[in-house]
Amino acid sequence: MIKLTNISKHYRTDEILTTALSDINLSLPQGEFMAIMGPSGCGKSTLLNVLGMLDTPSEGQYEFMGEEIANYKESQLAKIRKEHVGVVFQEFNLIDELSVIENVEVALLYHKMPKAKRRELALEMLKKVGMDHRIKHYPGQLSGGQQQRVAIARALVNKPKLIVADEPTGNLDSNLGREIMELISDINKTGTSVIMVTHSEAHAQYANQILTLLDGKLVSGSLEQSIAS
Ligand code: ADP
Ligand code: ADP
Repeated sequence: MIKLTNISKHYRTDEILTTALSDINLSLPQGEFMAIMGPSGCGKSTLLNVLGMLDTPSEGQYEFMGEEIANYKESQLAKIRKEHVGVVFQEFNLIDELSVIENVEVALLYHKMPKAKRRELALEMLKKVGMDHRIKHYPGQLSGGQQQRVAIARALVNKPKLIVADEPTGNLDSNLGREIMELISDINKTGTSVIMVTHSEAHAQYANQILTLLDGKLVSGSLEQSIAS
């Protein structure tokens, strides 16, 4: 489904060049669950943003479902994202002024479909994440775990082939974090590929592939081994 070849990413700010990713090679078959770990600042979010087509690499090739997209413009990436990718953030990123069901419907707005159909699909997804009893509530009236469930429903409502999640449990206590991981794991079992950044060793165990980044490079084996060598 995904193949990165020699991907690098540099940021230039005030004449200072930061290499956030250096020569990354990886592949992800359809249906896999990949966790990305590593210390703060090692490039995890940058890699996730490239994989989720929220950002473009500086160098290298990115093959997504048979299409070479590394040099695509934002408008071309936006189209693929809308069709195939759902995004989940640590901070939930719900719209405070919209109700729960409206937040999920937002993800369907670009589809030309009647409002009633949007509502039906949003409700179906909220049922799936166990939030159909709160559809008229506003984000500020929900717990963190509930907000993340709504955010996951929003990411899923387009039936994406890929979910990218940047520390989806980072703002949740351990019980809620585990519940969200169970939910993401169930979603993965229905065939949706998942790529997740996490600081939690326990949550990484839900994945069937764990990658470790160090200074923008992929390292094999555990982080402890890499630091020791
Ligand atoms: P983590 O993902 O490890 O929890 P953050 O995402 O908050 O941590 O930030 C990781 C590192 O990336 C930090 O050193 C932060 O300063 C840096 N960073 C994040 N976004 C930007 C940005 N837009 N410009 C410059 N540095 C950034
Ligand atoms: P992580 O998610 O592992 O904490 P990031 O991918 O956020 O790491 O950041 C990797 C490196 O790139 C860091 O050195 C960070 O400061 C830098 N960086 C991230 N985003 C930007 C940005 N927008 N502009 C400049 N530097 C950035």
